[in-house]
Amino acid sequence: MGTGTGILVLAARRDLRRRLFDVFDQAGCRHIHSARDAQHAAILLEGRQPLELMVAVLGPEEAQARHCCEQLRTLGAAVGVPLLAVLDEEAPLQPAQLPDGLAGWLPAARIEADLLTRWRELPAATEPTPAPVPGAAERALALLARIFATSGGGATRDATARLLFDELALDYLAVWPVRNEGGEYPVPLLQLWNGTEPAWPPVEAQALLQRVLDGEVVLYRDAARQRAPADALLPLLDLSGFVGLPLLDERRVVLGAMLAGIRRGFGDMAIVEPLLRCAAARFAQGLELGLTREQGRAEGLLDALTGLPNRLLFGDRLESILREAVRNGECFAVLFVDIDHFKAINDTHGHAAGDQVLQEVTRRLRGSVRASDTVARYAGDEFTVVLRHIVKNDDVQRVAEKILQVISEPLALENGTRLQIGVSIGVSFFPDDAADAETLLKHADEAMYAAKRQGRNTCRIYEVSPEYAREHGMALRSRLRHALGNGELRLVYQPQVGTDSEDIVGMEALLRWEHPELGPISPAVFVPLAEETGLIVPIGEWVLRTACRQAQEWEQRHGLRLRLGVNLSALQLMEPKLPATVFRALQESGLDPTLLELEITESISIKAAPNLVENLQALHRLGCRIAIDDFGTGAASLDYLRKLPADRIKVDQSFVRNIGVDPDDEAIVRATIEMAHRLNRSVVAEGVETEQHLAFLRAHQCDELQGYLFCRPLPVVSFSRLLDERQNLLGLQDATVPA
Ligand code: C2E
Ligand code: MG
Ligand code: MG
Repeated sequence: MGTGTGILVLAARRDLRRRLFDVFDQAGCRHIHSARDAQHAAILLEGRQPLELMVAVLGPEEAQARHCCEQLRTLGAAVGVPLLAVLDEEAPLQPAQLPDGLAGWLPAARIEADLLTRWRELPAATEPTPAPVPGAAERALALLARIFATSGGGATRDATARLLFDELALDYLAVWPVRNEGGEYPVPLLQLWNGTEPAWPPVEAQALLQRVLDGEVVLYRDAARQRAPADALLPLLDLSGFVGLPLLDERRVVLGAMLAGIRRGFGDMAIVEPLLRCAAARFAQGLELGLTREQGRAEGLLDALTGLPNRLLFGDRLESILREAVRNGECFAVLFVDIDHFKAINDTHGHAAGDQVLQEVTRRLRGSVRASDTVARYAGDEFTVVLRHIVKNDDVQRVAEKILQVISEPLALENGTRLQIGVSIGVSFFPDDAADAETLLKHADEAMYAAKRQGRNTCRIYEVSPEYAREHGMALRSRLRHALGNGELRLVYQPQVGTDSEDIVGMEALLRWEHPELGPISPAVFVPLAEETGLIVPIGEWVLRTACRQAQEWEQRHGLRLRLGVNLSALQLMEPKLPATVFRALQESGLDPTLLELEITESISIKAAPNLVENLQALHRLGCRIAIDDFGTGAASLDYLRKLPADRIKVDQSFVRNIGVDPDDEAIVRATIEMAHRLNRSVVAEGVETEQHLAFLRAHQCDELQGYLFCRPLPVVSFSRLLDERQNLLGLQDATVPA
């Protein structure tokens, strides 16, 4: 028998699917995937461990059977999985008509009698999966970071390709557009190879490219070692490992294809594939930008110098984003970005230099935002940006900081002069600051002037009026001082569930402030205030003690060993007495330390937080677990993973939200899970809101999930009720199971 870890059964008819499943299930197989058709199978298997066996029921039609086998072979190609056919006798396909490459066949009537025997007779699967190379995951993560650091524009496409080609030691890499521009065959936008130039495109090789351009993902880990015949292109280019990925735009329209090949076969696909997918996402972004530009230029809506949407087109975009946001209840931010001292640059270095600066700022701005965000040249040296799907002000703050940072990197003019420039950024939010486009822009513009007044090269968020806000902020701050004493703070708990069982495995304690006049205030608003004033330390201590006590109460009542997540702020983490505080909370409550998981946000810089590493190590010694919160949003992901003693990673909701929307974010989620597993960390996804998120996270083996799809954060009473109900339900189920 094979070395894989799963069995795939595929049948369009439910009864046959069930019978196949039962045979393997009764034989004690642990991982049985059952699918309706090859497409369904591909979704189920994406990113999973290699298979041991595939069994497919072939329908009446020869052509269809052939096609199905072909698709399955591509699916199993990476490890040379044997494919057994079952002939559905309701409409018999003659054995003589069976496609090649099958490891064997049997009639449906013999499923129960013969299937296991046939399987056991098969020769061992061709190839064991290679053991992961130590350090490979770290290197891959570092490479991933570098791929993302290169922006998606045309100028850097070559740089990204070169990086990938060298680091993965590829022998062939090409990017093709879907559009045939002139010639008989499409011309590659980019082609790198090792050795003699491939005589492309030979007729034999067109089929494979066409399949990828039709949207198919083609993967051969090591075709030379597989029994199934690979595509004709592979021997032609002398390649054994091959990956073909369609380049998709936001609406999943194919814009092109990326083909990558390697002579000696790929090593660990679990590492190579996410890297290639990330690169493909970057190439797709570049292509999309190029196409939009061409179209816009033709219609006079794009700025001739930078290729960005001009003021007219921007206005139009902003209106449609606004309409959609109203429909979907979405929040977004408008940024006004103005180059500091641009006039002086023009005066000193001339207009050509000014033009270069504008082009470079354009490139850096585009590289700092997502493909789905809009960047426009509003006027002269003013740019506007719309950031969509915003949840917290922090999301915007982070982008603004990134912009400030990349723009301030030195810039070389064509005449050799080196310049350093800065920008001032103003931000306004929809719907908080205004409900219409014009006012939003006006507010962002006002905030930009406030940033200029503040000394330039900085970012300001629009405030009602600085004086009013100061009063307001002050008032909140002083109220907050008494909130704890007045009993205005409380905790809510949000369940976390196991991905496979969907059963509760833990909960996160989340803080709420019930303001007597203003009602509930979000921690996103008051935690920063509490941090500024240092109040977060006593508040945080209260949170720890209250949550531990509550968790222990539930533990005593239900004995579920639920894990308790508690958020720690940066300030708490720097306190030398933190381990003592945690120790006391555990002792007082009697909670098992291994059930307490402290969440630290990724945006805390290791260098800037004294005692951080020591404190975390001390907490570990107490037996507590550490989780890295909001993973993927900070700059130091790799560093964090290496240096901090973390047990779990929480993928930030901003990425989860974009599953099905932004292939870049999907690639990040997937790569994060993959890498975390390789480093023996488990992964929780936050903000799981839809079935689509769930399906994706499940397919990529995310361990645990948290989000509105399962449950919102609940007050203590409701959470207790939830646990009681669960117990009743299970009690009932137990009672009906015969002894
Ligand atoms: P976090 O630790 O990342 O917590 C997750 C946040 O996501 C919570 O927001 C939760 O209500 C929200 N959430 C959960 N599922 C979904 C979903 O499906 N969709 C969406 N859109 N949101 C979801 P919350 O309670 O407003 O807390 C915000 C942040 O405030 C937390 O982010 C955490 O950083 C901070 N915070 C909360 N409680 C505490 C605390 O006790 N101490 C400290 N220092 N910070 C806290
Ligand atoms: Mg958290
Ligand atoms: Mg989080």
